[in-house]
Amino acid sequence: MSETCIFCKIASGEVKGEILEMDEEVVALRDIHPQAPVHVLVMPVKHIESVAALTEGDAHVLGRMALMAQRVARREGVAESGYRLVVNQGEHGGQTVAHLHMHLLGGRQLRGGMG
Ligand code: AMP
Ligand code: ZN
Repeated sequence: MSETCIFCKIASGEVKGEILEMDEEVVALRDIHPQAPVHVLVMPVKHIESVAALTEGDAHVLGRMALMAQRVARREGVAESGYRLVVNQGEHGGQTVAHLHMHLLGGRQLRGGMG
């Protein structure tokens, strides 16, 4: 838990957010500035800053994030039409919140480019 981190505050309930699913290690939160009809952030409950800060002990968390994304995608109705999972790392990657999160984007045709 980081005292200054907005995603830690949402995961702990201190700040309100639209949480779609949560277990002891992973949480799915609807993005407040959606870039697609379905835009959900899947993140660890534990404060891990980024992919760059991952350790061996955190490795399973990424797998659990992908599995939660898969379930949320099904419930949001985009499992069949398809979706994109994106993790931004650092400045050039476009990371603006320093708490690891995976974007789940779907509900429209996404462009093919990578930036
Ligand atoms: P990134 O640029 O990859 O770090 O993504 C950060 C994402 O967090 C952006 O898509 C923001 O819209 C989203 N975001 C920031 N603050 C909140 C919040 N309080 N609740 C939900 N989503 C947020
Ligand atoms: Zn945090």
